[in-house]
Amino acid sequence: MKDRLEFYRDLGITTLYRRPSADAAVTVDPTIHVGTASTAVIPAAPATAPDLPPLQPDADTLLKIIEDMGDCRRCRLHEHRHKIVFGSGAGNASLVFVGEGPGADEDAQGLPFVGRAGQLLTQMIEGTAKKEGIALLRDQAYICNVVKCRPPDNRTPEPDEMEICGQFLFRQLMVIRPKAICALGGTAAKALLGAREGVTKLRGKWHKWRDIPVMVTYHPSYLLRPYNQNAKRESWEDLKKVLHFVYD
Ligand code: URA
Repeated sequence: MKDRLEFYRDLGITTLYRRPSADAAVTVDPTIHVGTASTAVIPAAPATAPDLPPLQPDADTLLKIIEDMGDCRRCRLHEHRHKIVFGSGAGNASLVFVGEGPGADEDAQGLPFVGRAGQLLTQMIEGTAKKEGIALLRDQAYICNVVKCRPPDNRTPEPDEMEICGQFLFRQLMVIRPKAICALGGTAAKALLGAREGVTKLRGKWHKWRDIPVMVTYHPSYLLRPYNQNAKRESWEDLKKVLHFVYD
């Protein structure tokens, strides 16, 4: 139980729901508070609620999304995955980073951005924040991907895979309702903005997903390539803009 609660806390889930049993005569408070974050405890649905969870953002939670995903087999990406990579960080984060999809390390650990690109992302977030006088650790933001299962050979997710898994990403964003989203790379930009243009055209400017401001920047994997020094500089500029917008 302790491990499970810690696992949920690492995913940014601070409130858990017990499904009310049909024959329960007495209603107990079905919420369990997991984290230390200041997320308000949301009242659980009444025992008479239908078993299928509603999709309205008001009633949605990260845990419900995980439950709805279950052992997802909605697209071909499930065939080779080891672990679904849902997301990590603070469930009440003001800033959400959206990547493309898990790589090998993420698939093995079930956590996003834990490989080389992830290390660079951590450095970028924490290093830039520190330089700019903003107290921010990676775990205080929320990090997730467009697709939650690793595409074979790290290929780009197909449009149908993005559409199927995108519903879970959109629910995550509606639940967290951050002050801003940072789209890492072209796949995230396409999923959030429907954009056809490349990152070079989109980056550095504010866009919107629903009513939430979105900054597009280069994917950390792209920045790891040795000949992309200029892009690295640009990414740092983009990140500075996001951090000041969110935390000033
Ligand atoms: N690249 C991504 O887009 N996401 C990850 O989680 C890791 C690498």
